[in-house]
Amino acid sequence: MRWPASPATDPSGKIAPVPSDMAEPVDFIREIIRDDLAAGRFDRVHTRFPPEPNAYLHIGHAQAILLNYGIAQEFGGKFNLRFDDTNPEKESEEYVAAIKRDVRWLGADWEDREFYASDYFEQLYQWAEELIRKGVAYVCDLSPEELSRTRGQPIRDGERIITPPGVDSPYRNRSVEENLDLFRRMRAGEFPEGSRTLRAKIDMAHPNLNMRDPVLYRILHARHHRTGDTWCIYPSYDWAHGQSDSIEGITHSICTLEFENHRPLYDWFLDQLGVHHPRQIEFARLNLTYTVMSKRLLLRLVQEGHVRGWDDPRMPTLAGIRRRGYTREAIADFVRRIGVSKAESIREIELLEHCLRDDLNKRAPRRMAVLEPVRLVVTNYPEGKVEGFDAVNNPEDPSYGTRKVPFSRELWIEEEDFREDPPPGFFRLAPGREVRLRYAYLVRCTGVVKDPSGRVVEVHCTYDPATRGGDAPDGRKVKATLHWASVPHAVDAEVRLYDRLFTVPDPLDVPEGEDWIGNLNPDSLVVLRGCKLEPCLGEAQAGERFQFERKGYFCVDQDTRRGLPVFNRIVTLRDTWAKLQGKLEERPRATRRAWPT
Ligand code: ATP
Ligand code: MG
Repeated sequence: MRWPASPATDPSGKIAPVPSDMAEPVDFIREIIRDDLAAGRFDRVHTRFPPEPNAYLHIGHAQAILLNYGIAQEFGGKFNLRFDDTNPEKESEEYVAAIKRDVRWLGADWEDREFYASDYFEQLYQWAEELIRKGVAYVCDLSPEELSRTRGQPIRDGERIITPPGVDSPYRNRSVEENLDLFRRMRAGEFPEGSRTLRAKIDMAHPNLNMRDPVLYRILHARHHRTGDTWCIYPSYDWAHGQSDSIEGITHSICTLEFENHRPLYDWFLDQLGVHHPRQIEFARLNLTYTVMSKRLLLRLVQEGHVRGWDDPRMPTLAGIRRRGYTREAIADFVRRIGVSKAESIREIELLEHCLRDDLNKRAPRRMAVLEPVRLVVTNYPEGKVEGFDAVNNPEDPSYGTRKVPFSRELWIEEEDFREDPPPGFFRLAPGREVRLRYAYLVRCTGVVKDPSGRVVEVHCTYDPATRGGDAPDGRKVKATLHWASVPHAVDAEVRLYDRLFTVPDPLDVPEGEDWIGNLNPDSLVVLRGCKLEPCLGEAQAGERFQFERKGYFCVDQDTRRGLPVFNRIVTLRDTWAKLQGKLEERPRATRRAWPT
């Protein structure tokens, strides 16, 4: 197989036009792996997804999952799911279960390779003793505050950031015997929480802060969700992560850029221990406009009740977007299109929505649903008569067939589809005007009925029986086609309309002292009750997706009860991203005019 030489995503982080049907993606990570295989550095590929079970996963994690799993698949290798569960105070079984659900939903199959860093606690402990015996680890009695102060914190000096060297701990030169004794007594639970740590003895003046005698173990009298009360000392994430990869025989430890600075430390550990050494490759994390994507921030939204929970359909969590109705295919397409990059950037949420519409357009059956109804009476249609009209289920795919939609004298139409005094450019129903009722007839508005407050409660019209099916035999045209539902047949439903969770593209960009919570969109959820749906939607099951004609894509929510369906709006029909792209394409031309060469 031949591979194009250049990566699909340019390093500036701009969106590269990767055809979505491209069989195998090309990027700098895959290049490195291919080189490693060609050079014989590894003879196999083994990747993993290593979440910390301290929150639900978000779309950024989907990128990491699909990248690791995709690479394992493409290279005929293996993929592990490993929980880096080193922090019992923040982790739980609930999160473990949620993460497994999400990874499985994305289609990444770890087979029987579900692992936990906590499975390796004993090995990690033994390795720590080994470092003590080698004289490169020591027990330190500094308090957490003293420890962090003496490591040498970065200081801002005008434009520059300087990091003065740290100060050696007074406990740095303890004897091996004393260190072993203290460390064993730490494990035995003899000391209070926070009173001692085990630290690697590297270099307190190292330019990389991670190399300044980092902590390997801390005392924590906390119950772990998997190991119970077995341990009262817990390994640091840094001590556990790289060694866990090594134990599992991972060949390529793919992670996000914040770990670049940790790589020298991971290398140091593995070299000291002389064990299998994976290659670490870093890429830029995925950020999306109009949302936040850090577990810590998402946890705050949940804990403070700004959303209804981790699976609130407005959340960028996988549980949230799945409930909302996003498809895994759309997410995979999105991840493929953005590729991987070394440069931090914020991706436009419009691209994700574009991928979603693309997928739903192909797959979602069409239905008619009137979200904000007003009654339309067809005054010349016989009382009690019902006709069934054939409606096309999916114009994109004839195999979806047709269904019958009942039509009667009284119908629901959207309130916004009628105007008593139509402004210029409004082509829908108005007094004297003729429009098409989708699949049914042309109708002409003859008048309205108002309540005492002057609000239109009924629109009256007559139909032209010669236009059965919606077309006039004399070829006369109408400017609008409305969707509708038959009053005696319609099913009542609740419809939840979601908008962006934040009002600004970069919610964390707030002036000093201000809270990003202030950027929450107060209108991110609008609940409509008394919506009128065509009858077959009454049978829809949680998770089913539809296009409501002219209204958008909708998914049946899990709150659905018999007799009262609840729908989530997944996304509207309008594709703003296409427009945006048009704008982006215009930009370079304008630039060229401004700076003649
Ligand atoms: P957060 O910073 O959002 O709280 P995290 O990085 O602490 O998340 P982990 O459980 O450590 O979450 O993440 C597991 C894996 O997912 C890591 O390898 C991490 O690099 C990757 N990952 C996390 N966030 C993103 C993101 N936004 N884009 C791509 N990969 C990500
Ligand atoms: Mg992390």
